[in-house]
Amino acid sequence: MTRELYTARLARKQCISESAQCFHFEFVLDALERFPFTPGQFVSVVEQDPGGKEQTRAYSIASAPNGNRFDLCLNRVEGGYFSNRLADLPDLPVEETVQIQGPLGYFTLREPITDSILVATGTGVAPMRGFLQWLFPADGPERSEGRAIWLVYGTRHESELYYRREFEALAARCANFYYLPTLSRAPESWTGLRGYVQEHVERIVRERAARLGQPLPVPPPDTTIPAAELSFDIHAYICGLSPMIAAVRDRLKALGWHRRQIVSERYD
Ligand SMILES: Cc1cc2nc3c(=O)[nH]c(=O)nc-3n(C[C@H](O)[C@H](O)[C@H](O)COP(=O)(O)OP(=O)(O)OC[C@H]3O[C@@H](n4cnc5c(N)ncnc54)[C@H](O)[C@@H]3O)c2cc1C
Repeated sequence: MTRELYTARLARKQCISESAQCFHFEFVLDALERFPFTPGQFVSVVEQDPGGKEQTRAYSIASAPNGNRFDLCLNRVEGGYFSNRLADLPDLPVEETVQIQGPLGYFTLREPITDSILVATGTGVAPMRGFLQWLFPADGPERSEGRAIWLVYGTRHESELYYRREFEALAARCANFYYLPTLSRAPESWTGLRGYVQEHVERIVRERAARLGQPLPVPPPDTTIPAAELSFDIHAYICGLSPMIAAVRDRLKALGWHRRQIVSERYD
């Protein structure tokens, strides 16, 4: 199936971490009035490389639906073709465009919304930003339905906590949103969480179960109920590189979580 190609004009580019060479991009699809997508989906950026070979890479949309605009967040991968090509796009006022296909993918919030643990490392935070903008819009009714939403965000250094101020402001505005950045190489002066995301995810699940008086590990569901009809009161959404996803998934499985409670997007 050939998918439609759209021309996306770069409206804003900002380096959000010098040390990690991470960039925030805002694009506009001038030919469309609206670009409808479900938060968490990705676009494919397509172009011919200098050798004439078509190159395509997926990038999660880092925003909630917003007219004909969408944001991306990406960092340079050493020796990588596309990440460096996009990171090298000249800053405005030079007008730049890229070709995209989409929206694509199934990394989306399961409805009805339940308590949710969003787990990301590095640019895996991109779809989480989309989820959070949708759940807690700045100028409209909330969609979180009062459920507890945790963002467990792991990086090595404080300088790699992308969108930190936004998430801190959101946590200050919304009592049911918890922003939990954790550093794996924290300096002594760091007063926040330390270590890997999976340790904090497990702690959240244990503390919540104790608070609600629920048994852990969770007893297996009734086998007469088809998997598609099972309902859960909590989900985890995990995005980043595969070793981290596997580590979080293993912890949750050991706690008795069902595979349908764990939704993930691998970048590699
Ligand atoms: C569904 C999906 C959504 C994605 N969303 C994002 C996003 O929002 N932001 C983002 O920055 N990236 C995202 N990626 C990764 C992105 O598609 C590219 O893989 C990444 O930008 C590297 O592309 P490249 O052309 O620079 O490297 P390539 O030339 O393709 O690869 C160079 C080398 O880097 C390794 N590599 C590939 N990807 C990564 C990576 N992410 N980290 C470390 N090493 C890697 C490859 O194995 C290879 O050895 C997503 C991937 C998928 C599948």
